[in-house]
Amino acid sequence: MAASEAVTDALRELHARYAGVRGGRRADYIPQLARSDPDAFGIALVSMDGHCYSAGAADAAFTLQSVSKPFVYALALSTLGLDEVSRWVGAEPSGEAFNAISLEPRTGRPANAMVNAGAIVTTALVPDRAAVPAFTAVLSCLSRFAGRRLDVDEDVYRSEASTGDRNRALAYLLRSTGTLPVDPVAAVDTYFRQCAVRATAVDLAVMAATLAHGGVNPVTGETVVSTEVAAQVLSVMATCGMYDASGEWLLRVGLPAKSGVSGGLIAAGPARFGLATYSTPLDAAGTSVRGSAAIGALSERLGLHLMRNPALPGSTVTLVTTADVLPSAPSGRRERALRERVGVVAAQGALDCTAAERVLYALDETGPERAGAVVLDLREVTGADSVALALLHAGLARLAQDGRRAAVVDPGDRLGPPDLVRERTGQDLPRFGSREEAVERCAQAVAGPG
Ligand code: GLU
Repeated sequence: MAASEAVTDALRELHARYAGVRGGRRADYIPQLARSDPDAFGIALVSMDGHCYSAGAADAAFTLQSVSKPFVYALALSTLGLDEVSRWVGAEPSGEAFNAISLEPRTGRPANAMVNAGAIVTTALVPDRAAVPAFTAVLSCLSRFAGRRLDVDEDVYRSEASTGDRNRALAYLLRSTGTLPVDPVAAVDTYFRQCAVRATAVDLAVMAATLAHGGVNPVTGETVVSTEVAAQVLSVMATCGMYDASGEWLLRVGLPAKSGVSGGLIAAGPARFGLATYSTPLDAAGTSVRGSAAIGALSERLGLHLMRNPALPGSTVTLVTTADVLPSAPSGRRERALRERVGVVAAQGALDCTAAERVLYALDETGPERAGAVVLDLREVTGADSVALALLHAGLARLAQDGRRAAVVDPGDRLGPPDLVRERTGQDLPRFGSREEAVERCAQAVAGPG
């Protein structure tokens, strides 16, 4: 492992740059949290291939606190579905502090699952059965996200349970408005236990990476939640994860994130990475001062802002031309003239809907001429999702309606099984193993009989 050490070096450099930042205060309303080491600072990053990089105190254990909320929200969504969960808890930023006593005027629902009121309701939605008590389900879910068995810090749990009157008051208020489905004492107890689950920055980065990876833990390979649920959770993290600093965070850092009063902070780059930091001094919004500085700097330096499109335009289509200019073209005048009427488009990589649009546009660019032909070379395409396939099939059908012949170079059947292609494109699309064969056949077809 030498080359990838460069990633660790980048994290070490970030760690060194922000380790000296002072500012912020440790949370002390949960007395046990005030005993944490204010100098401990860890950063961890996990890629979509499950590669893990870290710097500083990334193996120091601390309690999840509010970082647990998105994962328990994921559990509730997986168990009950978005519509049922939304009957109990909303998805609007509250613009208020984590422990605000504010419920939606008409329904009495908490604003979202990231503020305490919403998180208490979310936890209460997890079924509590004799065979699988609610907290057992919560701990097992958090552990699957982390890819290892997590446990509870009993001291922090007791410390919060003995001082958590505000959360208890919130639970009673919710119960009085009919928006808490279970007994308030039980709901808050499970919630306090969930907040006291212990993990490291590395665990948190794996958990964030699992959300970024469509619900599949990239280290263990286990499907923890569905792709839909992962996207739903990331959406609420993006708009509500940083409490009353959520808008500013999305504007400047541009990543779904969640902070916790114990100093943990996670951020997810969808389909790219999971990131976590640990440092206990907090700013006024309850976010780790060093953590937010480090993640903010990383996002800026590496261009990770969600609203900056990471897809490189033009990287799908590698060739748009006519067959007469290919190096393999024969020199005869007549052959060249025929080949001028045969377009050639080559594509590469994984095709999604935006990539498919580029391919279709390129097919048009090779010539609108009726009675002409076009060869679509898909040999370098590694895959196509169902949306891309539907779009390509529909585009090829339109081409045929316009009187242009098409042939594909598709030895890997990237375009789907021939029956499906026939049904969707309304034709028996000729398929070839090599570009030259396809061009030759198209040139003959363009020449017509004789
Ligand atoms: N257990 C904490 C509470 O409910 C979590 C708050 C947070 O981490 O923001 O007060």
